[in-house]
Amino acid sequence: MIELKNVSKFYYSKGVIATGFSKINVSFNIGEFVAITGESGSGKSTLLNVISGLDTYEEGEMYVEGAETSHYLEKDWEVYRRKYIGNIYQNFNLINSYTVYQNIDLILSLNGIKKKERKKRILELLKRVDMLKYKKTKVSKLSGGQKQRVAIARALAKDVPVIIADEPTGNLDKRSAESIIELLREISKDKLIIIVTHNYEQVENYVTRKITMHDGKILEDKKITPVKKEDYALDKYNFKNIGLFDKIHLGFRNTFNILTKFILLLAVYSFVVAALMGEYSFFKQGEYETSKEGSNYLFYDTDDHRIIMNKNDGTSFSKEEIDNIKKLNNIDYVIENDLTSDQNNEFVTGDEKTWISALVRSDTRFKKDGIKGRVPEADNEIVIEGEKDDYIFQQNEDLIGKELYLYDAWNGGIDKSYKYVVVGIRYRAKDEPYMDQLKVYAKDKVLDSIKNNTHRFYSTLTIDYFNEIVESNIYNMNLRVVPNDWVCAGCAFIPEEDNYRCEKDNCVNKTINITANNIYYTDYLSVRVEKTYNKKNINYVLNLPNYNKEEFDFRYNNVIYVNPYDYNNLFNKDTYQMSIYVKDINKIDNTNKVLEKMGYNTLKMKDTLYNSPYSRIVRVLKIFVTVFLVVVLFFISYFVIKIILKSRNIYFSILRMLGASKKVCLDLLMTELLVVSNISYFIFLIIAEINRKGIINIGFINTVNNYFTRNDYIILYLIITIMSLLISLRYSRKLFKDSVMNTYREEM
Ligand code: ADP
Ligand code: MG
Repeated sequence: MIELKNVSKFYYSKGVIATGFSKINVSFNIGEFVAITGESGSGKSTLLNVISGLDTYEEGEMYVEGAETSHYLEKDWEVYRRKYIGNIYQNFNLINSYTVYQNIDLILSLNGIKKKERKKRILELLKRVDMLKYKKTKVSKLSGGQKQRVAIARALAKDVPVIIADEPTGNLDKRSAESIIELLREISKDKLIIIVTHNYEQVENYVTRKITMHDGKILEDKKITPVKKEDYALDKYNFKNIGLFDKIHLGFRNTFNILTKFILLLAVYSFVVAALMGEYSFFKQGEYETSKEGSNYLFYDTDDHRIIMNKNDGTSFSKEEIDNIKKLNNIDYVIENDLTSDQNNEFVTGDEKTWISALVRSDTRFKKDGIKGRVPEADNEIVIEGEKDDYIFQQNEDLIGKELYLYDAWNGGIDKSYKYVVVGIRYRAKDEPYMDQLKVYAKDKVLDSIKNNTHRFYSTLTIDYFNEIVESNIYNMNLRVVPNDWVCAGCAFIPEEDNYRCEKDNCVNKTINITANNIYYTDYLSVRVEKTYNKKNINYVLNLPNYNKEEFDFRYNNVIYVNPYDYNNLFNKDTYQMSIYVKDINKIDNTNKVLEKMGYNTLKMKDTLYNSPYSRIVRVLKIFVTVFLVVVLFFISYFVIKIILKSRNIYFSILRMLGASKKVCLDLLMTELLVVSNISYFIFLIIAEINRKGIINIGFINTVNNYFTRNDYIILYLIITIMSLLISLRYSRKLFKDSVMNTYREEM
């Protein structure tokens, strides 16, 4: 069955060559019970290891059932071991953290045997070695004799033809030793048993052959009793590979089976997960902050949550459309007339002593913390927000309660048609944006009234007389249009000195056409000139309050006074452009897509911001540092995990001795690491959720919660998973770099 011809085994260690045995010629057959004796160092163990396929040989040829083996690769030896060899060792080589049952289950699982069949077999075997009542006991708790019984049961578990036992009784007391030998004899009938022993008397009654070794050579090979040659039918045993489910099951068992190892691994992984999450979220926070930075020359309100939108066809938004937009997901609020967001407005007291230049914001966006006074309730109530040391607050201790008007350069000064009352002030915190900008928070009604001014402010007026066309805008303010109650509807009062602009130098009763044109719309107003005015009669004609002759030229002259109704028709328009503000900045792209699909033109405020080249360099550096830190983290954790896994070397060596392939070992380790990494990952998710609920408050987890999108969670999950895979791969590659025996020896 097994035949060695001139086989030699040499050991190379540190440049020294030692002979394990040399030029051995021997053959073994089924049915034999062979005892090998000889003094220590004579090469007995070496011979057994070579026969077992646990170690390689350098010279000669070993035949298995007539076939050469010198060309065998590690894979072939694995198959050989699985098919032919059951080993019993002096030091048992059981998995100490497994129970008796699990130890035998392991080898049967590795050979792809179904659970039900395994159970039947294990119970049979345990009964045979008289260990049934210990089946649930951990191996580490057994005595030496009991351990060796389990080892024998394991060697018998798969029905192999060859049992090789290297001093199986060496660590046992006399009585245990006897019962072990008796057990080996019982099983020897249809097998080849090769046993190395120091104590030949113990076995002499049973053996069929005695081999004595000396100095790496066979000194004597003596047949004691004749053996009838038996053929061993190898194919009666069907070799399969371990199934996926059993592999996962084993992987799970290994994960939890040594508690300290599990806790250590979990601690390392939790550290890795937390560190990765922390580092990555700080990076994301930085990215986010940079994306918010920068400026542009068009908009004051550079809030990155803002999307500006208008309609493709240039018409205004209907109420229904606005309502539909408000109903979308992720919409925090809508500012219908968003020009107010980007335009400073002047507020002034009636005595013109206090001036406030501020952006006007919807009170829905007001941060209430730290407010003095109260929030706006009535439509004309406002609060003012700014830097604490702003001139306005320094000079006006009694700001609350003050009545303010809009100052309107176009409209000839203070617009007394609407009165605002300050009901609260708030000092901005240092870390809030727009530090030097005052803001007025007001009800939407106020915003609406300001909208008219805005429309007019940005309009170019074209006034068509008969003789002349005059253009007027903020850059070139030739003529203004101002509402006045004393002018009849469809009428206009114009300066007397403008008569020359009409036919025959007389405009009265002639029609003039006024066109207002801005980025949103163009509209027309036709009015008949009812009267002309001059410095002397203006107050009589138009009944101006607080009229002061001195101011006629710059304030009251060069104005076409029209009826407020006509004026409103020209400037009080619907919403042509509006801004929506999203709730979740991470979903702004989605929201934007939805709006585009609805047919609107959109502009994300984020995209209008301009960053300096300097900040782009900083960004590249940040990416570099983050990647560097992740790589460093990876290696630190790799080395720590490697140290922890060192304690697993014995386990995987034993697995290899039992015939497990590299792939099986890799898969088992991978399962183990994946289970731990998943647990740490989900522990983190749970902690993050608890943090989100406010039960605990951990700073960096807040950052994670704020800046992580679903994709980030997936990316980090993949990084951690890939890390586990790489570690498993590296570990198993190292484990299988050498022969089983060399790997095993290193661990002993
Ligand atoms: P035995 O089992 O009969 O006591 P061994 O097979 O263990 O003897 O050893 C045979 C010879 O090989 C001895 O001279 C021993 O020193 C040498 N040897 C055994 N294992 C190694 C090894 N791993 N490296 C170097 N030499 C070894
Ligand atoms: Mg030995």
